[in-house]
Amino acid sequence: MMVEMTNEDLKEFYKLVFPEHSLEDIGNFLNTKLDQLGVDEFTAENNRIGSQIEIVKRILDANSNQTELAKKYLDGIDPKNCGSEYAHESSEEDDGFVIKNKVLTLDKTLHGTEVNGKQARMLILAHNKNVKRVNLFNSGFYITLRGPSLSEINIIYNRLSDKINSYGKTFGAIFYLHSDISIKEIIWDFIESLVIDSNLTKWDNTNRLRNNVSLLDYHLIIINIGTLMYKNGYNFVHTCTNVDCDYTETEKIDLGGLQLTDFNKIPLDKLRFIAKAPKVEIDDATDYRKAINNSTEFVIDKFKIYCKVPSIGAHIRSGNQFNQEMLSTIYNAKDEDEINQYLKYNFNRIFNAWIYKIEVMDAEGNVSFRINDNESIALALNELQSTSESSLVDKMNEFIKEATVTHIGYVTKKCPKCGKLPSNAIEETGLVTIDPQNAFFTILVMRLIQNS
Ligand SMILES: [Zn+2]
Repeated sequence: MMVEMTNEDLKEFYKLVFPEHSLEDIGNFLNTKLDQLGVDEFTAENNRIGSQIEIVKRILDANSNQTELAKKYLDGIDPKNCGSEYAHESSEEDDGFVIKNKVLTLDKTLHGTEVNGKQARMLILAHNKNVKRVNLFNSGFYITLRGPSLSEINIIYNRLSDKINSYGKTFGAIFYLHSDISIKEIIWDFIESLVIDSNLTKWDNTNRLRNNVSLLDYHLIIINIGTLMYKNGYNFVHTCTNVDCDYTETEKIDLGGLQLTDFNKIPLDKLRFIAKAPKVEIDDATDYRKAINNSTEFVIDKFKIYCKVPSIGAHIRSGNQFNQEMLSTIYNAKDEDEINQYLKYNFNRIFNAWIYKIEVMDAEGNVSFRINDNESIALALNELQSTSESSLVDKMNEFIKEATVTHIGYVTKKCPKCGKLPSNAIEETGLVTIDPQNAFFTILVMRLIQNS
């Protein structure tokens, strides 16, 4: 896909990549580049950059619903209780402890020790401050991540943009929302390739990590890969959302600071567990998740619905299943309307991975029968959709809001020029949510352009 870029578009884009330079500098820079490269090569280069922006824009559009939802989840959150670090003071009957996502550094006691294998690898990465231990507050254990190399960033970028393009060709533009599953799958494979250690036992067995990392920790992990890609901070451009104001400010931020974990939601003994457990068995992690209320049940009509936060692995499996089914069902659809109808009447299915059991009750309120396999639950969800319009969606959103321990966002302030809060901020707290998956894609592109 090729996109013709106007000079103004180009300047705007470079302003995003190099916020510390003025538009005039950028204009001069582009003119010099034009002289050096000649018209043909200059145009080809701009088209390459243009198609990257186009893809980013499309992802942003596709995910706008999710950002709206994430904003709902932030409503009522007190930023004073949230952060990325936690400290418990010691007392007479109680040891203190600290929880922190640590960038691992070299151990000063090595004194020329000969090392090899896994330890050598770890030390080389630590030497570059390129390893970080990340606590997964929604899952109950930690992982140790290394930062990606430029060639790995290039590969994941290409895989993502190929996927998005081919998805568009298969389903047409309206399906970008559902392409989210295949994007998550690619990013998750990338995440797994960067995990070098964990306190979850046998974490490197096939599928063990993806089946135990909570879906609600996915964004937290992405943010922390970002911190390894931008160790000295990321240039974040604030642009005032008031159309009558043109105020723009660039701030260097630590991407890790976007992690807002609500420590009030985790009982003290479980915080201590996160801080101290040297090894975590699957049963320990399950107990941890129970203690942070990762499951619930409710009744709609004659259905009693049992749900819990899925693992990233369960989420991807159920999304792929839905995509395959959709592909075969709509293959012969007459027109776009028919496809839209299909999506509308199957909307409840996005919660498939969240629901593990449904009991169907008779007129007296006794359990008539129960189902717990994926396929039957999918059927029930469709059935529920035809009887009651939106209550499942409302109930699920309520549950997800309750169950989310870590939010991603930041506290913004009033614009120094016009005095208004950004339109996407929550009035009372100034909290603004960002979608880490979108942000991740943007920073991948930035990283590649800055190094090209
Ligand atoms: Zn303003």
